[in-house]
Formats: sequence, structure tokens, C-alpha cells
Amino acid sequence: MAEVLTEAIGQEALAARLAHHADAGSLAHAILLTGAPGRGGLALALNLARRLHCQATTGQAKPCGTCPSCQQHDQLQHPDLHFTFPVAKPPGKDKALSSDQVDVWRGLLRESGPHFDMQDLRERMALGNKQPFISVHEAADILRRLSLTAHAGGWKVQIIWGAHLMRVDTANKLLKLLEEPPKKTLFVLLADSTEALLATILSRTQIIPIPPIDSGSIAEQLAAEGAEPDTVRDAVALCEGDLAQARRLVRSDAAEEFEMFVEWMRTCFARDGRKAAGMADRFHDLGREPQKAFLAYALHMVRQCIVGNYGADDAVRLRAAERAFAEKFAPYIHHANVVDMQAGLERAAREVAGNVYGRTVFLDLSMAMMELLHRPK
Ligand SMILES: [Zn+2]
Repeated sequence: MAEVLTEAIGQEALAARLAHHADAGSLAHAILLTGAPGRGGLALALNLARRLHCQATTGQAKPCGTCPSCQQHDQLQHPDLHFTFPVAKPPGKDKALSSDQVDVWRGLLRESGPHFDMQDLRERMALGNKQPFISVHEAADILRRLSLTAHAGGWKVQIIWGAHLMRVDTANKLLKLLEEPPKKTLFVLLADSTEALLATILSRTQIIPIPPIDSGSIAEQLAAEGAEPDTVRDAVALCEGDLAQARRLVRSDAAEEFEMFVEWMRTCFARDGRKAAGMADRFHDLGREPQKAFLAYALHMVRQCIVGNYGADDAVRLRAAERAFAEKFAPYIHHANVVDMQAGLERAAREVAGNVYGRTVFLDLSMAMMELLHRPK
């Protein structure tokens, strides 16, 4: 299973300050990190928990990364690290509890790292129009969990993400616990701002505002994730120091490719020759670089479908809309056609690069796809 990357991108100074307080024993027992989630509050919280749980002797600059606790953190399975986050009531259940959605939470965290925001989580939980919130039942869950002895005899860390979506009765139920928490318990509340939180909660926490991530760190991160320089520049300019927002801006650039891919695959599956010819004209008019980008994207989608097919869910890297499509499309990509499909796309990319007439390349490729998509398993 892949390790979760919890680097405090661009927030190294704040991470160091928190680590210093943790080592010196001068950390408040309840801290409230405020700011958009894409600034990295969850990364800071996870780093802090990992530091408190690391079993290596003190004095090290960083958690060791090799002790059993650090390994449990790598897998998001440390028994004394607890997550509470806003959820909606699932159909047929009478309580909205994040413990019912913790696999979705871990999956998102594992795949995208800790800089996701409510929009990302909403998409992942497929909430539709439902509004997520932190219910009073969560407070009861937290009380019960924290009253138990820590598994490893050390710190218990309770992270409350999206704390501004706590109901008033939830907050009231947590007040006493925040005021007098059990020994060696750390609360880390994360909220977009202090505005929606009760004054009684604010007065019981140490409020630490998280500044926007600097442009350089965001640009570096987006480039490392493979975004094109032009896209990176646009995203950095628009994202307001919010990595979740920046990534969304980068992805929206790919939305057009996704829509074309879906339309093209539907056309080929329907064996609609007339429409395929029309699409070949459109591909032609895009020009050479977008054609290459589209073929690379199509290759990526085909590979993701095959990875999904073979049950290696953790290796699939798709956003929500693509995943929904890929799930329907994947059964048509199988061992009997995938090799030819990839070869066809790669050949088309070579032809485009070699200046073959775009219309011809895409028409030939579409004809080949029509046959391949209907090839028996
Ligand atoms: Zn360790």
C-alpha cells in the first residue's frame, strides 16, 4: 500500500514551530488551525501526530519513519489517531457518523495527500445536494474513544476536520472535553475560519491561523505532479495560496479532453461512421500539440481502466467524473483488446508527431477502435 505523503508544502516554518512546542511540552491541549484546507492544515496535524507518536528517542529533527508507530502512520492505521469530519446521513441510517465513511476518507487521503478540501471530499462521498455536518452523535463517539486508554500508552490525537460544520449541540457536548481533556490527549480542530465557531469553542482552543502557501511552493508542487508550465502559471495566479484550488484549476484544463474522450468512445462504440468522420475533422482542427495531448490522455484513460479491471484500485489515479465514466467503460477494455488499443493510440501519436494529416490519423484510429471495442473477451 502506498505511503501517504504528508509534507507540509510551503508551511515548513509553521510545522517547525508546532514541532518545537510539541517537544518542549508547551503545546495547548486543543489547537484550532484556521484557513482553507488547501493551505495544508491537515498535513500539519498529521505531522504533529506522527511526531508525538514516534517511538524513537527524542532530539531528532524529524520522526524516524521506521518505528512501528511511524509505519502505522504511513498506512493511516495508528490506533491512537482519530479522525472526525463532516458527513451526510446515509440512506437507511439514522445517524451521520464519520466512522462509517472512514474508508472513503483514508482513500482520498492516500490518493491525493492531505491538501484536499470539502469539495473534493463531497465528490468522493458522492453527496449530491446533501449538506455534510458534524452531528451530536460524533461528540458521543469522540467522548467514548478518548475515555479509553491509549493503545500504545502514549498520546491520543483527535483530529476534527471541517470543525466549522459542527452543529451547535455537537459543540456544546464537546466543551467539557475541550476544557478538561483526558491526560495526553491532543485535539486538533481544523476550520475554514473562526466565524462559524461558537465563542465557547474559540475560548478553549489555541487559534493558529494558517497563511496561504507561497506561489513558489505551489508552482513546484504542481510541476512535480506533471502540470504544464502555462497551466501552472494560471493556477498559481488564481488559487490564492490554496493547493486544492490550484489542483482543481489544473484539472479543469483537462476537462475538455475528458469530454472529447467520452464522446469519441461513445461514437466508436456505436459504430457511428458519420459522426466519427465529423470528430476526425474536429481533432484535425485542434492542431498538432492538442492532438498529441489528447492521444496521451486517451492512453492514460485506457491504462486506468485496465488497472481498475485487475482490481488494483489503489493504483488508479482518476478524478470523480473520470472514475464514474471509467467504471462503465472498463468492462469493454480487457486482455483481448488492450494491447492493440494501446498500440493503436501510440502509433497515432507517432503519426501526428511525424506530421501525418490529422484527419486521416483520427479516422483510421476511430475505425480500429470500433472493431476493438466489440472484440469478444
Ligand atoms: Zn518513528
